[in-house]
Amino acid sequence: MSMAIIINFAYVISAVLFIFGLKMLSSPATARKGNLVSSAGMLLAIVVTLLYAGLDYKWIVLGVAIGTAVGLFAAYRIQMTSMPEMVALFNGFGGIASLLLAWAEYHQNPELSAFIAVVTFLSAFIGGMTFSGSMVAFGKLSEIIPGKAVVFGGQHIINATLLLAAAAGAVMLAMDPAGSYTVFIGIVVIALIFGVMSVIPIGGADMPVVISLLNSYSGIAACAAGFVIHNNILIVAGALVGASGIILTKIMCKAMNRSLANVLFSGFGATTTKAAAGSGPQGEAKPATAEDVYYILEAADSVAFVPGYGLAVAQAQHVVRELGDLLEANDTEVMYAVHPVAGRMPGHMNVLLAEANVSYDQLVEMDDVNPKMDTIDVCVVIGANDVVNPAALDDESSPIYGMPIIETHRAKTVIVLKRSMNPGFAGIQNALFFYPNTRMYFGDAKASIQALVAEFKGAE
Ligand code: NDP
Repeated sequence: MSMAIIINFAYVISAVLFIFGLKMLSSPATARKGNLVSSAGMLLAIVVTLLYAGLDYKWIVLGVAIGTAVGLFAAYRIQMTSMPEMVALFNGFGGIASLLLAWAEYHQNPELSAFIAVVTFLSAFIGGMTFSGSMVAFGKLSEIIPGKAVVFGGQHIINATLLLAAAAGAVMLAMDPAGSYTVFIGIVVIALIFGVMSVIPIGGADMPVVISLLNSYSGIAACAAGFVIHNNILIVAGALVGASGIILTKIMCKAMNRSLANVLFSGFGATTTKAAAGSGPQGEAKPATAEDVYYILEAADSVAFVPGYGLAVAQAQHVVRELGDLLEANDTEVMYAVHPVAGRMPGHMNVLLAEANVSYDQLVEMDDVNPKMDTIDVCVVIGANDVVNPAALDDESSPIYGMPIIETHRAKTVIVLKRSMNPGFAGIQNALFFYPNTRMYFGDAKASIQALVAEFKGAE
């Protein structure tokens, strides 16, 4: 059997492992295993790729050493709250890798067939825009640059012109590959500018959607790069990333009841800032002490915890589970109601709750908890804001109008844990805080819940 057949056979096994791994990632119960299965597929793909003849191993070893060191450092040191930023960086690196690969191949051999010229263009252009777009997304999420949407007149015209120029470059490259080196450099420059231009008009709150979209782009760029170097597993892996990224993007947009076009072109952050500066709901919030909240919880038959981004900031997942266990010991039914876009990335809350070993049976999705909301005694909102804002249901002027929410305001009592009356990521005030059945329990979520745990333990 020739080496090429062995390599391609191993690639088929890798592709199968990727597909099964992805499938397992769709449920929290199997997600860890899915990650391992996909990683095993990738390891196999890398090992057999190293069997190709004529490789210069010294550069590969150097690359693997640097990559492993950076990857290990990032995996150990990056906080869960900074995961979206890390994913943004990784997408960006994927994009630049595809760009550099296409460039290196073209540099070595500029005599391209029309097909290879097109995939070289796609790899470089999509890879380049993914890189610069991801860097802007990283900057916005980590607040190195302002998270606000940057919108100005003529923005769409500039973007359209850049796209047209890139398309013209692609035609020139396909018609005369050997004589178009300068055109190729121009395409790379346009790609980098286009990436920046397409992410700056998107507000910080929409960055996770953008990151998922950029993730999809990085997959498409990798797929094109696979065609450039005739590597089957790169084509398959790229296509899988491209497709899963776009599906995730669609799921997130649906969870916010917004179209992708609205996320990409509406300048959401810019309009919400104006809304925040306006009037918004007013009223008197009723603060509660740890002791008040303890008595409410102690008397409750059913309690739903509704976590949001503040849970991640406070790293309160372990104490929440401890409180949940104490409530269960007190014969209270306990559930954790998770909104699909709570936090700053898809599955953010699920990951945190899984880390604290909250049982999967206690997790309830928004569509399952809302119909029985009227029967729930207490909803404890922990650092969630936009995803429980009733304005999404009844205030047509609100920028989040139409976004499905967890309707905590319909529970008998709502306890909101947050540090201040400040708005959430969408930058708008929350009418829930002024509802007659709402009590505000101010403070850092972890400290606040620790105080409740102490009350319960003191009463034992
Ligand atoms: P929000 O950003 O709306 O609210 C978080 C709240 O947590 C804030 O009001 C803040 O109030 C509070 N908080 C922060 N730190 C702490 C702390 N240490 N202790 C207690 N409270 C704290 O988060 P949500 O999860 O409700 O909503 C997510 C937002 O992100 C939505 O707008 C959603 O559309 C957006 N989004 C999410 C995506 C995803 O994939 N998850 C995708 C796209 C957008 P205070 O400062 O007063 O403490």
